[in-house]
Amino acid sequence: MSIQEVELVIVGSGPAGYTAAVYAARAGLAPVVLAGSVTAGGALMTTTEVENFPGFIDGIQGPDLMDAMRAQAERFGARIINDDAVSIDLQGAVKTIKTGNGEAYAARAVVLAMGSEYRKLGLPEEDRLSGHGVSWCATCDGFFFREKQIAVVGGGDSAMEEALFLTRFASKVTIVHRRDEFRASKVMVDRVLADSKIEVAWNSEVAEILGEEQADGLRLKNTVDGSERVLDVTGVFIAIGHDPRSALVAEQVATDSDGYVKVEHPSTRTSLPGVFAAGDLVDHTYRQAITAAGTGCAAAQDAQQFLSSLI
Ligand code: FAD
Repeated sequence: MSIQEVELVIVGSGPAGYTAAVYAARAGLAPVVLAGSVTAGGALMTTTEVENFPGFIDGIQGPDLMDAMRAQAERFGARIINDDAVSIDLQGAVKTIKTGNGEAYAARAVVLAMGSEYRKLGLPEEDRLSGHGVSWCATCDGFFFREKQIAVVGGGDSAMEEALFLTRFASKVTIVHRRDEFRASKVMVDRVLADSKIEVAWNSEVAEILGEEQADGLRLKNTVDGSERVLDVTGVFIAIGHDPRSALVAEQVATDSDGYVKVEHPSTRTSLPGVFAAGDLVDHTYRQAITAAGTGCAAAQDAQQFLSSLI
């Protein structure tokens, strides 16, 4: 296997990776971006309308936004490869990244931008109806559900936050929870239970999301007695957590207890020199395309400064 020597490798191709690529390419670093073999473009490739990315008055389709970011990075000389990083050695001054197609890259700087994965319910119709009534992000999609009845699935703090946020738009929010009590913090639970727009379907799990082109209901199964009923909703927000894609590097860079890569805020420096991290791989809180793009920009600048300091 021959090893290609480059200045900077960016792993990941969401808004964080592509923005890092635009900045690094314009700084003359000719970055290699490992974009992933099946999911190049990141999370927004799976959605429809994006209405909150600045600059698009009428919104833009997620895949169109990501294609434009990719083309913009390529225009300045980024080399974007639809391949997976399958092993990453970040120790030492020169980092080595091997890919699924048997290529290997050696670089003195690496930007990690692998994003995170929303946990799914595991239902066959979930992906088909994603962006058509099924969502994982109230901040992104709540606005589409004005005066609608919607459900939030989950019982932790993020489910409570999503439900409370969605009361701004929805006529009614039903939280669907498997148990008879929430595991969220008491203050959040109290706020939820006091909200007149929120109801709770206790001891209930989603057996099926109904609807062909658009979600139009949930078939709920009672976890105690097995009985079933249909909940009439046109939106379903799944809030059962997310997992950062840090498995390849978790033994090497510092991560927090949930597996998110730790950085020295406000920089994107990780615990290893020459290794920077950006986007949802780092971010528990904001998890938006624009915040991922923002930290991708910062990571490219941090990497560029690091590489200059070596000369
Ligand atoms: P991602 O976008 O997750 O990209 C990371 C990518 O890196 C992966 O997809 C994959 O292609 C690649 N990758 C991972 N591991 C490897 C590896 N080992 N080798 C090579 N490549 C790898 N945000 C908004 O601001 N507005 C919205 O309207 C909006 N709607 C959304 C709708 C949906 C359905 C979803 C799921 C998310 C939505 N978000 C929205 C959130 C937004 O998409 C994310 O916050 C953002 O994409 C995070 O960017 P990222 O670059 O950190 O990671």
